[in-house]
Amino acid sequence: MNIAIVEDEQKLATVLEQYLQQAGYQTEIYNDGDFALKQLALTTPDLILLDLMLPGTDGITICREVRKTSEVPIIMTTARVEEIDRLLGLEIGADDYICKPYSPREVVARVKAVLRRHSGTGNAGSTDQFALDEQAAIVRINGQQCELTAVELQLLKTMADSPGRIYSRSQLMTKIYTDNRVVSDRTIDSHIKKLRQRLEKYAPGTEYIHSVYGIGYKFELPDQD
Ligand code: CA
Repeated sequence: MNIAIVEDEQKLATVLEQYLQQAGYQTEIYNDGDFALKQLALTTPDLILLDLMLPGTDGITICREVRKTSEVPIIMTTARVEEIDRLLGLEIGADDYICKPYSPREVVARVKAVLRRHSGTGNAGSTDQFALDEQAAIVRINGQQCELTAVELQLLKTMADSPGRIYSRSQLMTKIYTDNRVVSDRTIDSHIKKLRQRLEKYAPGTEYIHSVYGIGYKFELPDQD
C-alpha cells in the first residue's frame, strides 16, 4: 500500500512517514502543491494525505482535480477546525478530515479505517446486529425492533448510508427539513441526543453515533471480533 503525503511542513511530513512506514505502508512525500498535483496525475497511490494550505496549488483544488479521474481515498488535514465545517459544505469529496495538531498515531488509525472502508472489508452500515427498515420506520438491533420518529429515521439513514463520513449540523439539517425551515444547531443536537438514548436502550454501551468535536456527527458500527 502506497500513501502519498502532501504536506509542506517538512518535519511533520517526516514524522508521518516514519509512523506510516512502521505500520507497513510505503510513502511518498510532496512538499509543494503544484508538484503534488503533477505527480498525483502520474502515480497511483492507495491513499492521499492532503494538507489544505500548501505553497502553490492548495489542497481543495488538488482534491477536486484528483476526484475528476479517481476515487482514491483522500484524508484532508487542516490547521483549523472551522475549516473542516467549510470543507464539508463544499463537498469536495474527501473521505475524512483531521485537524492539526494531531498525533501521528491517530493519523495511522484513520488511514487504516479509511482504507478498510474503501476496500469494502469494513463494517457496512447494515449487519445482522443493526439494520434499518425504512418502510417500517424501525431499526433492528440484535433482533429487537427499535421504533424511530420520522426525523430520527432520516438522521440515522443519512449517517448510516455512509458509515464513517462526517456530517456537519447544517448538512444534517438540510437532510431532515426540506421545507427551508430555520432551525438551530441545538435542534440537531437534541434530536441526536434522543436518538442515541433510544438506541442505547437496545444496545447498552454501544455507541453508533459519534460526535466529532467542533464539526458534527458520524455513524460507525462497533468492530465485531
Ligand atoms: Ca500547510
